[in-house]
This record gives sequence, structure tokens and C-alpha cells, in this order.
Amino acid sequence: RFSLTDAREEKLLRKLYESSTRDSLTGAYNRLHFEERLRAEVAYATRHRTETSLLIIDLDHFKRVNDTYGHPTGDSVLKHVTQVCTRALRTEDVFARYGGEEFAIVLRGIGINGALRLGERLRVALAAERIEHEGQRIPVTLSGGCAALSCCAVSSAEDLIATADRRLYRAKQQGRDRISAQG
Ligand code: GH3
Ligand code: MG
Ligand code: MG
Repeated sequence: RFSLTDAREEKLLRKLYESSTRDSLTGAYNRLHFEERLRAEVAYATRHRTETSLLIIDLDHFKRVNDTYGHPTGDSVLKHVTQVCTRALRTEDVFARYGGEEFAIVLRGIGINGALRLGERLRVALAAERIEHEGQRIPVTLSGGCAALSCCAVSSAEDLIATADRRLYRAKQQGRDRISAQG
């Protein structure tokens, strides 16, 4: 009887933990968990002199999707994007919903070139994905910025975020549907 209760309690605790680390719409990790993990990865990489990189992606003209097809369809696009991305990632990569239509990925042991390649892979996969609303195709693309510890003379999680964010902004300015690793 005790062990049964323990198993139930364990399951409940695990559920509670999951719900505190996940975004309820998409099931991706939430921002709080992302920030904790990024800080931990940066500390680990610094101590062991290995790489860590960060990719921030943002859906292009997402407001238009909501305006054209409605907010519920926008929600299902966000879920769809999460599926496309997690399919292309390794289990150790932390995929999180950073904000409304913005996602962040912590890449353990990966440098700037690897982060850029991965961003490209996600960009191409999403652009090729058929996302529909009542039989009509919704074009969905993303822009991204990436940063790595060694490439950008940065040493903290905050610096990594600021650099990736700046590059994301640059990708938007350069025309969207692209990943930037410079600037
Ligand atoms: P840009 O290419 O410059 O990123 O343009 P954008 O339209 O994607 O950017 P903007 O920041 O103007 O709009 C973001 C939109 O994302 C507006 C907001 O309503 C929508 N959004 C944010 N969170 C959610 C959500 O949970 N569900 C839905 N359906 N829409 C959301
Ligand atoms: Mg956007
Ligand atoms: Mg945005």
C-alpha cells in the first residue's frame, strides 16, 4: 500500500514539475526553465572549456496570421512550429518558448557554425512544412539569430541572449526568412 502511494505521489510530483517547466500551449519549455538551463550550460561550458550556443527564432509577420485566420489558428500554428522544431532537434537541446511567437534553443557543446547550420535546418524545414487552415496553405517562415560563447567574446547567459537577439533583429532587417550569425 505504501509503495503504491509512493508511486502515485511520484507521478503527481513529476506532473507538477513538468507543468512548472513547460509552456501550456505548445508543451515547449517555458522561459523560466530556459533561463535556468542557459545559465547552467554557460557555467558548465566555462568550467570545462567547451562550447555552448544559443539560437533565438521569431516567426515572420505572425500578426498577419492572426489577423487573416484568427487567433485560434495562430495558436495551432505555434503548436505546429513546435513540432517541426522538436522533430529536428536532439533530446539534449533545450527548446523553449521565449515569448509570444519567439523560441529559444540552447545547444550544448555546439559552436557558432553548428548553431547556424541548425538554424538553417529549422528554417528550411518550416518553410517546406504544409500548414493549412480549411484547406488553404498558411505560409509560415522564421528568422533567427545565433550566438556562441567563444565566437562573440561573451561570458554570460545575458550576453548570449543580447547577442542572439541583436542578430535576430538584423535578420529581420535584411528581409526575414534567414538566420544571422553576425553583427
Ligand atoms: P515580425 O516579422 O517583425 O516578427 O512581425 P510579427 O508580426 O511576427 O511581430 P509582432 O511582434 O508585430 O507580432 C507578434 C504577434 O504574435 C502579435 C501577437 O498577437 C502574436 N502572438 C503572441 N503570442 C501569441 C499566442 O499565444 N497566440 C497567438 N495566436 N498569437 C500570439
Ligand atoms: Mg514575429
Ligand atoms: Mg516577436
